Amino acid sequence: MLNGKIALVTGSTSGIGLGIAEALARNGAHIVLNGFGDPAEIETIRTNLAADHGVRVVYVHADLSSPDEAYALVKRAENDLGPVDILVNNAGIQHTDRIEDFPVEKWDAILAINLSACFHTMRASLPGMQARDWGRVVNIASAHGLVASPFKAAYVAAKHGLIGLTKVAALENAKRHVTVNAICPGWVRTPLVERQIEARAQADGLEVEEAARRLLGERQPTERFVTPEQLGEMTVFLCSEAADVTTGAAFPMDGAFTTH
Ligand code: NAD
Repeated sequence: MLNGKIALVTGSTSGIGLGIAEALARNGAHIVLNGFGDPAEIETIRTNLAADHGVRVVYVHADLSSPDEAYALVKRAENDLGPVDILVNNAGIQHTDRIEDFPVEKWDAILAINLSACFHTMRASLPGMQARDWGRVVNIASAHGLVASPFKAAYVAAKHGLIGLTKVAALENAKRHVTVNAICPGWVRTPLVERQIEARAQADGLEVEEAARRLLGERQPTERFVTPEQLGEMTVFLCSEAADVTTGAAFPMDGAFTTH
């Protein structure tokens, strides 16, 4: 379905980004991987993805807390693989604390990676999409782009901001076949969340699996984690021709997290 398209997925060395990269590759897109990790493990991910799906896969290192590196990521991706048709802004980090205790450098890093980097990669890739009159931007926001929780000031602010940015970009590109949407996952059991489950298990003296059950039970009525595979399939849909008029939307995939 996406044969020959070139997809850049930020933060795709792990978790949701990797699930999205796999789904896009399975549908024929060539992939630009990005994110941190052990170089040998990243190389294994890269070669497996290419071999499993018969697509070209390159890895481009960029620290998305830097505006210059975020912009340069798109330029290097285009240099190494070709014009970016599909941009998935997925890289993100988390830190939890009360506002009065929140380290300023954590606030700055979360805003830079979870929000500003998405602006910089879009700024670099939208002109090419406009010129070719086809493009897809999928921003991985969060249920916390739609509702709040205590102790997540930077994350909630960044994800709400990302949904606003998504709407503006959709409006600016509405006359072309360039769509910009956000997906808002609830809890997904990735390393980012595993750290929160472990912290809770420790704080409350619980087994890790009991802490995971309680975390889900509080906010996600389905009591099932969303999976990277499900988020990958949603991304593929948003990149399809069927979604050509679907733009400026923020889709919850959250087991009813945001309904109450
Ligand atoms: P993860 O920690 O498994 O993966 C994060 C990815 O981002 C990794 O590849 C990491 O190397 C990369 N990354 C982190 N900092 C970076 C930087 N400075 N520059 C470049 N890459 C960087 O986390 P995840 O759970 O897969 O999260 C992916 C996205 O989904 C994030 O934006 C997160 O906010 C969002 N999200 C996650 C959940 C969840 O429950 N896991 C829920 C809603 C939204």
